[in-house]
Formats: sequence, C-alpha cells, structure tokens
Amino acid sequence: MKSKKKSTVQLTFNDGWSYDPAPESKDHIRLKEQYELFIDGKFVRPESGKYFDTVNPATEKKLASIAEAGDKDVDLAVRAARKSYTGAWGKMPAKERGKYIYRIARILQERARELAVIESMDGGKPIRESRDIDVPLAAAHFFYYAGWADKLPYAVPGQLPTSIGVAGQIIPWNFPLLMAAWKIAPALAAGNTVVLKPAETTSLTALKLAEIIQEADLPPGTVNIITGAGATGAGIVQHAGIDKIAFTGSTEVGKLIQKGLAGTGKRYTLELGGKAANIIFEDAAIDQAVEGIVNGIFFNQGHVCCAGSRLFVQESVMKTVVRKLKDRMETLIVGDPLDKNTDIGAINSRMQLNKIKQYLKIGVNEGGTMYQSACAVPTKGFWCRPTLFTDVSQSSRIVQEEIFGPVLTIQSFRTIEEVIEKANNIPYGLSGGVWTDKGSKIFKVTNQLRAGVIWANTYNKFDPTSPFGGYKESGVGREGGLHGLMPYLQHA
Ligand code: NAP
Ligand code: MG
Repeated sequence: MKSKKKSTVQLTFNDGWSYDPAPESKDHIRLKEQYELFIDGKFVRPESGKYFDTVNPATEKKLASIAEAGDKDVDLAVRAARKSYTGAWGKMPAKERGKYIYRIARILQERARELAVIESMDGGKPIRESRDIDVPLAAAHFFYYAGWADKLPYAVPGQLPTSIGVAGQIIPWNFPLLMAAWKIAPALAAGNTVVLKPAETTSLTALKLAEIIQEADLPPGTVNIITGAGATGAGIVQHAGIDKIAFTGSTEVGKLIQKGLAGTGKRYTLELGGKAANIIFEDAAIDQAVEGIVNGIFFNQGHVCCAGSRLFVQESVMKTVVRKLKDRMETLIVGDPLDKNTDIGAINSRMQLNKIKQYLKIGVNEGGTMYQSACAVPTKGFWCRPTLFTDVSQSSRIVQEEIFGPVLTIQSFRTIEEVIEKANNIPYGLSGGVWTDKGSKIFKVTNQLRAGVIWANTYNKFDPTSPFGGYKESGVGREGGLHGLMPYLQHA
C-alpha cells in the first residue's frame, strides 16, 4: 500500500490509502479476429453469412467478430447432434463416455488462466472471481458428472435409466463458462448429445470450450456450440429434432419458451430470475453479516440470479448495519476487471447499464433514499457504483423487480413472522440468506422461506454436488448434483 500522495491510482479509500494497480497479464491470450460455429466437430462459417461484434465492456473496444447462426445453421447443428446420438456417442460404453468428460475437466484446469482472463475481458467480471470461482467450478462440474457416467443405475435405484436424445441448451451472460459446464456436463454424463447457445455478449469462453472439446477428441457432433442472439435461441427451442430444452435466463424469455414448448412433448428445465431476501437478526455476528451482504449483492456486479438484493434487518440493529454497510461500500474498488484488487468490475453491456440506471431513477421517484459509494469510476466502459436504497416499501418496484445490478434495498422488521411474510411476498423463489446466532431461527426461516436455495450465515456458495434452482417464477427443475442429472435421464 502507498500513501495517497505518491499513488498514481484514481481509486482511493476513504482513509486516504490506495492500492497500486495489479493487472493480470493478457500477453498470453490469443484471440482470433473472427470466430465460427462449432458444428460436427469442426469450426464452420455460418450459412447465414452473418457476424456480430463482441466487445470488452470495460473498454468498449471490439474483441472479435462472432458468427451468427441462422435457421439453417441450427438445423445442421441439431442433425450433427442426432448423428452422434444414434452413432458414436450413443453407442459408446458408459465407462468410456466418462473418460471423455474427465478429459474436458483436466484440459479446463490446464487452460484455467487463459479462460479466466478471457471471461473477464469479454464479460467484465473481476479476475479474482473468474480465476477463483467461475473456472475452477466449471472444471469441478465436469469432474463431478464424469463420475456419474458409469453409475447411472445407482442414480435411479431399481431401474436402468437411459438418455433422452438431443438437448438444446441456452445460457445467459452472467457466468458464461460456468453455465455452459452446468448444462453440458450432466447432459453428456447421461449419454445425450448437445446443441448449446451462449449469450450474445459473452460467446468467447464457450468457443474456447469448443476448442477444448475438439482437443479432448469427443466424437464429432456430440457437442455443438452455435453463437447468435435471441433468434438463434428461439430456433433451437422450435427445432423438431430437439428432445429436451435446458434454459437459463430471464423469467420473461423463460415464459415465452414454456409457451412455445406446450404440447410438443419436449422436456424442459428453466432456471430463471430471482430477488432473494437476505435476513439479518439482531443476534447475528454483524461484521460477518455485513461481509455476507456485500458478497451477496455486489459479487459479479450483482449480475447473479441468486443475488441477495433485498436486505431485511431487525429493527434494533438497523442503524448499526446501515452504518457498517456504508463504511464497507466506501472501501470497494470499482474498475478494471483484470486488476486483482478490483471488487466490482464492468456492467456486462450498455443495455444492462441502461436498465440499471432506469431502476435507480424509479427508486428515487418512488421516494427511496439512494446512497452510492463515492469511488471514482473509469471514463470509458460501463460502470455502476455500489448502491443501496433505504426508505423503500414492500410495494416499491425496486423491491419487487429483478434489477440484476449492484443495487440493494433495505427494509426493517420486528418479528420472525413479519420478515418471513415480507420475504415470501414476491413472484420469485430462487434463493435467500439468514444471519443469526440461533439454530432454531435458521430452521424456522429455512423451512418457511419459499426459495430453492437458502444459505445460513454465509452467501453465494456453490458446489457441483448441491442442487440449485427455484420455484414460483424462478424456474422449473434443478441443476447440480443428482437432481441435475435427472432431467437428462428417462426413468419412471
Ligand atoms: P435472457 O435475455 O433471458 O437471455 C438468456 C439467453 O436466452 C441468452 O442466450 C439469450 O440470447 C437467449 N434468448 C433471448 N431471447 C430468446 C428467445 N426468445 N428464445 C430462446 N432464447 C432466447 O437473460 P439474460 O439477460 O441473458 O440473463 C439474465 C437473466 O438470467 C436474469 O433474469 C437472471 O436471474 C437469469 N439467470 C438465472 C439463473 C438461474 O440459475 N436461475 C442463472 C443465471 C442467470 P442473447 O443473449 O443473445 O439475447
Ligand atoms: Mg463481450
């Protein structure tokens, strides 16, 4: 650490100290100017002839051109997946199939540094997160599901479950490589083949994964990765050759997909939006809880479906929590995602930043009191300082609607019954958090919160063996663990 006087960095702490920049090197990164579609084991130009740009949201500079798959390309990918399903992959003994999945996991580990840097460049998330969370967890999912490949009869005792066929998989931009791993690993372990589409703004690590799949020598067509926008996703959903859809994204698009699939006989799982309650009781370890709140909402710029975006604080500790939270927010560093000191990186796209800004306005117009940390943000790129709102009510739009940015609302409560009712009074039910010293309160809250995942005295912890998913408007089905394998198996 250096004193403010000597430092050249603009991002200063309120105590007058600042960190020197500690940027992760990108010298080892080789990006092509143009990326093609990965179909039938090869990188091919799109029949559509179209390409779109992917930019670095921290600099607004173009990183590469990405192929846009049209209907004909979707059809080629689905046919290639079918060919492998009825051929090489479908006929392969389960033990052999497992070896290929292990191989993908090992190559992911070998190329971890490259993948982490590309993830941060393309999506804007801090390198600390892509390096310590996204990439290791992606590898862990392949390792975990590789183990299931030859043990499927144990997954459904008393039965011999079989695969389903060709899975169409569509993923969002907040955890690009990790979401691809969540989708591809269980599908392959269960013996299915795959057509996957990453989000338009973050295709690069999925295309790197395509290179890894090629290097791992999977039979051509087993995994096809096709890039494009919403229309490409819709093309996958509608294709008659798809047997199962796995979608992660917004509730709005999830509902469209659900309507489109009605009556088709295709199976589906949907992992959708969230608006989690993070609940602090007066007997909680307040400093730890404040760290948990910060992690819950500011982690990955709040681009997290399970983000703890609604904070409920017991009235007697409200003042203390708000003061400590504001102090902590002042120390958060917003800026270059490749800098190892950065806590909050770039907002993923201009569109998402505009959406967040609109919600900040709505919050103020509704009578909320907005507090943002005073830190400087770079002039180029898409940035949002950590933000909290007090003086909000249960009916405020910023309390009810998913913002998907670093924006926290704070409400107080007196009794456990009151907070459970408030926390549940929302269309979503993905996740939640509870902070207390009392085990009995943890049991009561976790039993009565209508959410799929609830953390106690911690937040945003993930593990490939744990199921993840929500109810109400947060989705249908689960991913992760044994639960995540089931939607890819035919069983009674
Ligand atoms: P989104 O707009 O719904 O997009 C998700 C994916 O669907 C993208 O690949 C998108 O392509 C594609 N898509 C768009 N329109 C489509 C259509 N009509 N048919 C088929 N596919 C279509 O969501 P997002 O903004 O990328 O992601 C943020 C949302 O994801 C948040 O609501 C968040 O809560 C949710 N999420 C949920 C989970 C979970 O596990 N429950 C995890 C992560 C994120 P383009 O991007 O190219 O438009
Ligand atoms: Mg990008």
